[in-house]
Amino acid sequence: MKETEILIIGAGPTGMVMSLALTKYGIQNIILERTNEIQKHPKAHEISGRTLEIIHSLGVSLKELVKEASDQETASKITFCKTIRSPFGSIDLQEPSIGKKYEGTYSISPPYLNISQTELETILRSHLSQKKSSTLALNMEWISSEEDSDGIVSCVKDLKTQELFQIRSQYLIACDGANSAVRNHLSIEMLGPKKLQDVVNVFFTDDLSNDLQIPAKLNWIFDARFPGVLIAHHPKKRWVYHHPIDLSWDRLENYDKAFFQKTLRTIIEKPDDYQFSISSIKHWQMSAQIAKTFFKNRIFLLGDAAHRFPPTGGLGLNSGVIDACNLSWKLKFVLHRNVSTSLLSTYELERKPVVRKNALESVKNWKRLLSIPKALGISLSLGIYLKRLIHAKILLVCFNHKRKQAFMDQIAYWANRKIESSLKDSRKKAKIKNAIQAQIPHFDRLNLDITYSYAKQTQGLVGRRFPHFFIGDRSSHSYLDSESIQAFVFGDNESNQILKSEMLLMGIPLTVHKVPNIDSPMQDLSIPKYGCVLVRPDGHVYAVQEDRNTSMTRGEFFSECIQRLMEGNAIWEDAIQKTKQRKQKMFIPAIISISLLCIALGLFSLMRPIDNPPKPANFDLVELSEGKLVDWYPSPKRIYGLGLVYAKHIEETASEYDPEIPPPIFEKELQSLAENKAEIPIPTNQDLVQSLVAFDPSVQAETIHAINNFSPLLDYEVELGFVLLEDVQIESLQSDLYSPKIAFFLANDVSARSLAIFGEGQKNRIAFWGLSKSFPKFLPVSDQIWIPKEWKPNLLPNLRLKTFVNGEERQNELVSNMIYTPKEMLRFIHKQYPDRKLEKNDMVIMGTPGGVAMQTSRIWIRFFDFLGIERNSKLKLALKKQRNRFLKDGDMVEMDGEGLGKLENKFIEKVGI
Ligand SMILES: Cc1cc2nc3c(=O)[nH]c(=O)nc-3n(C[C@H](O)[C@H](O)[C@H](O)COP(=O)(O)OP(=O)(O)OC[C@H]3O[C@@H](n4cnc5c(N)ncnc54)[C@H](O)[C@@H]3O)c2cc1C
Repeated sequence: MKETEILIIGAGPTGMVMSLALTKYGIQNIILERTNEIQKHPKAHEISGRTLEIIHSLGVSLKELVKEASDQETASKITFCKTIRSPFGSIDLQEPSIGKKYEGTYSISPPYLNISQTELETILRSHLSQKKSSTLALNMEWISSEEDSDGIVSCVKDLKTQELFQIRSQYLIACDGANSAVRNHLSIEMLGPKKLQDVVNVFFTDDLSNDLQIPAKLNWIFDARFPGVLIAHHPKKRWVYHHPIDLSWDRLENYDKAFFQKTLRTIIEKPDDYQFSISSIKHWQMSAQIAKTFFKNRIFLLGDAAHRFPPTGGLGLNSGVIDACNLSWKLKFVLHRNVSTSLLSTYELERKPVVRKNALESVKNWKRLLSIPKALGISLSLGIYLKRLIHAKILLVCFNHKRKQAFMDQIAYWANRKIESSLKDSRKKAKIKNAIQAQIPHFDRLNLDITYSYAKQTQGLVGRRFPHFFIGDRSSHSYLDSESIQAFVFGDNESNQILKSEMLLMGIPLTVHKVPNIDSPMQDLSIPKYGCVLVRPDGHVYAVQEDRNTSMTRGEFFSECIQRLMEGNAIWEDAIQKTKQRKQKMFIPAIISISLLCIALGLFSLMRPIDNPPKPANFDLVELSEGKLVDWYPSPKRIYGLGLVYAKHIEETASEYDPEIPPPIFEKELQSLAENKAEIPIPTNQDLVQSLVAFDPSVQAETIHAINNFSPLLDYEVELGFVLLEDVQIESLQSDLYSPKIAFFLANDVSARSLAIFGEGQKNRIAFWGLSKSFPKFLPVSDQIWIPKEWKPNLLPNLRLKTFVNGEERQNELVSNMIYTPKEMLRFIHKQYPDRKLEKNDMVIMGTPGGVAMQTSRIWIRFFDFLGIERNSKLKLALKKQRNRFLKDGDMVEMDGEGLGKLENKFIEKVGI
């Protein structure tokens, strides 16, 4: 039986980095790979600065990588386009506002590379094959493992000879990818969605460097027929185009070379006879899953075996590399330094929150991209729904393949037209630009790239990655490139004794550096002025001694830390604990304060006073004695009504007021005219429904009937009205000196409020008012009019209007509180109906004071608007509220217009229906 300290399964990027890292730490390892060749079809291409640092520290020179990577210009750009020749937006990560912060963070430059996973793997493999303490065994498949007290015995199959043999190891590291056989063997569940999206992709090797208008690694294509992303793994020779598909109705067979030739010709704008050099086509599923546990006894899951997320963000491969970086030094400490094996359990504790964050971030990036089609005016969900509908089995009879295709083409045609028109529309352009700017965090996310902070800055440094210090300038090596624990001692001249020696405490290598000046990268880390910071081999801060004047000497502090580390007690755990406790402590007060703040803001916005409080108009007030009462038989061609002309009524109906906007003007039908003392019939449910449906055919009669007890909500409105005694000369109407010849009367402007409520939120809501006020006999008027002796430009009789319902006073107000003069009202009417004449005998009712039955709370109205409550629900709510104030059968309404006369009308239910 073969023996090794560590057996690694899978020579993908994670497995190979793990093997190189173990080799660096002098740990003997075997790496099994079931395939012989590196997969040619590329996957990842986005290699983060942290991955580059790690690989570099394992002996892979940056030069080798750069040789196979695309140029940095292309690597820093992302475009959004319909074809790659005409991008409508782009992001450049080299812009100072974005790229600068990367400069001081890594020991390596550039801060990221755009290189194909295939090329990276080739380079890693060539390095691996030169290492003596690691063995790369190709065509070897891991089959199973069994643990005993000394280690683990794995059964391996030689795929060339089909022979089975065994390998004994201390630990087994599973880097066998998303469908990990090791994970399945251990029955470790994957949590999270297995499929977010099906994608097909094509790998081709053309040189497109001259076809790109902006050289960019990612080109998001917004063409409704071929949406996707065209990725330059290398603009001169390696391209991949990813195209999302919906396998609920589509088939993978549809995506063959012919499909991709056509697609690529369209999005790259190549002539019809152009043939791309297509190498391979593959299908993959986008998932966001994390293993329930990352280890079981001596077996650890790393890379895609432990987690897989959408490639949006390029965090998959990079996460696997950092998994290896996290676990490898711990294995060294456990295997070679006698440290407790419990240190290994911190692998899961540390990596899980990181990959969870990476998974969430990747999903967020993917979803965030959807804001671009939205800004372009197309609804992806509608498109998906329509396509599924066309392909629904139930519609098989109606749609043969040809018809389906025709519909699909039509949908794509509409969507493309919409995209084109949006791109031309200047208002939409700003939206599209914003949507593109909002994508920046997808590509510029330093905190995720440099791995992770296990604690927040406010918590001190523990858990954070320590910035690089360089010996000499940045081109020389970084203090952090070390296999030992490192102590950085700040601003202290007295610890020379410690600093002189490279300490070896209890078998753990400890390197001490004296740092005289806290320079710029340190400043934002709030390092204690006279403190000491212990940094783990993976660059994370392990412990901080705040001050040299603590009860512990520095030597004691180091010993204690090393002791705890040997016991597998990661000190940052305390920091996490503290953070958690603090967070928990803060959580409830924070939630309470935020909620109170929201409630206060909400209440303020609901209760805030009306923006422009209305003021009474300037009238030429005239006493009734300065005119005479004359009998009158109304014979108008039109009856106009104005709404919201008294401040109190504006308030009680929770209406808005803007001095720049004319008041609502509606028309009452002539059938509404009635005499004083006439009995007013209450419209039946049937009447209401009929008139509503006749007026607005979009209203379903069933909907109304479904509203239980659809009562009219009958309301009264005492109003001063005027009648034109001669045709109005429109030209003179604008003159301040002009005095319209009018006479005044008293009116009750009856309304069926339920219909008006039904019009709320509709474009023609004021026409709904007219409808609600035009039932037969809904306008009883006084039988006399008052004619002034002399007309004045803004003349108004000085009187008070009152309403009594069954003797109870409901309305009482001076007409001089109106906010518009009669002449202004005529101007508003003319403005609304410019083609009409204002003719002799036309009547205008001038709006009602406060006190009507319908009282609406401004708070509720704002609240309902905020909730977006639609009209049926508003009506239902209104029907539940305040019904007792509305008029019902037998109610007597009396209106008093002082010297102008009285109105007495009884409301009666219609009989015989
Ligand atoms: C389209 C796409 C784009 C991506 N882009 C990015 C990106 O830009 N940046 C990024 O960081 N990530 C990206 N990723 C994710 C990245 O490709 C993966 O996270 C990465 O390949 C995981 O590496 P791994 O070594 O863990 O697993 P894998 O690459 O899957 O390697 C597993 C290896 O194990 C071997 N193996 C499996 N079973 C056995 C067995 N029983 N015995 C022996 N050997 C076995 C396999 O043959 C394989 O070689 C992308 C993924 C996709 C699909």
